Amino acid sequence: MINRERIINTFCELAKIDSLSGQELNISKELIKRLSNIGIKAKLDTYGNVVSQTNSEKTLILSAHMDTVQPGTNVKPIVTSDRISSDGTTILGGDCKAGITAILEGLTSLKEDRADYTDVEIIFTREEEIGLHGAQNLDFNKLNSKEAIIFDGEGPVSQITVESPTAIEFDIEITGRAAHAGVEPEKGISAIRIAADLITRLPQGRIDSESTFNIGRIYGGSVRNTVPEKTILNGEFRSLNMETVDSINILLKDKIKEIQTLYPDALIKETILENFESYQITDDDPVLIKIQNALLKLGLEPEMKPSGGGTDGNIFRKNGVDSIVVGMATHNMHTLREYVTISDLVDAAHFCEAILKSK
Ligand SMILES: [Zn+2]
Repeated sequence: MINRERIINTFCELAKIDSLSGQELNISKELIKRLSNIGIKAKLDTYGNVVSQTNSEKTLILSAHMDTVQPGTNVKPIVTSDRISSDGTTILGGDCKAGITAILEGLTSLKEDRADYTDVEIIFTREEEIGLHGAQNLDFNKLNSKEAIIFDGEGPVSQITVESPTAIEFDIEITGRAAHAGVEPEKGISAIRIAADLITRLPQGRIDSESTFNIGRIYGGSVRNTVPEKTILNGEFRSLNMETVDSINILLKDKIKEIQTLYPDALIKETILENFESYQITDDDPVLIKIQNALLKLGLEPEMKPSGGGTDGNIFRKNGVDSIVVGMATHNMHTLREYVTISDLVDAAHFCEAILKSK
């Protein structure tokens, strides 16, 4: 039976294990141990993802990521009536430990009840938050399942992500020329000035209902009294619409060219990389139908929502695994105000159990 107290304990224990992106070794060992306690043999793959496989053809992947964002060390979960939150100095890490908790509880309950259930492949990935690296390094050839449910959405488990954007990352490196700012500034070319000029020509924030653009980081210069020689910009843009992605891409390159002509003696180098690729789930998607049926049986009304974020689901789908992202009871993810609704987390565990029972 799904056990509310056990869910709260599991979640709090996992939340207390530091697992910033790139530092998932401790949590991965703990998860392998916990899976082993419920009869599931899992191990680390070459990249450090936790993977359990079966030989069965008829299997389903349940997945969540192990890493959390900053500030995420020394998390102190606080349980109040129907909420778990942090003490306000860190994120909670409900993203994605709520998902992991729901999966573990669903499996524990099935084992306890000696229930007959579908073979399952569990995947807990690393470094999702910094660019889906764990999923990108999974060996998809070794997985039997072509279907996956990923716990990484906001809100209750009945909230299903039906659209996710394409995301493009870009870095622009501007090299000007250093010179003493007080003695001979005319010999210098300010890379910061060029960066500023470029930024004001680019979009910022929401472009339209399905597209966004952001310069998230800028660094450059050396000291106060030197004309800055180098400046680097890190940015990204996203859209649910591929044509918009292409047109923003063209705009970005045009503006860089424009600036290059204005400052012919500077060197402007851009690197543009696709981070993840958009998808849209159709009504007849077999995994979607399974999820909807399981939710309805539990008395939960499925709610379809587009998302502006990417998840491991983008990578799974690109590799031929029909994957759907569901909510995992978290709210205000990536902020100090993050919290998990306990009743929703209990529902997510019930959902895991139900989906595995419905062969
Ligand atoms: Zn997440």
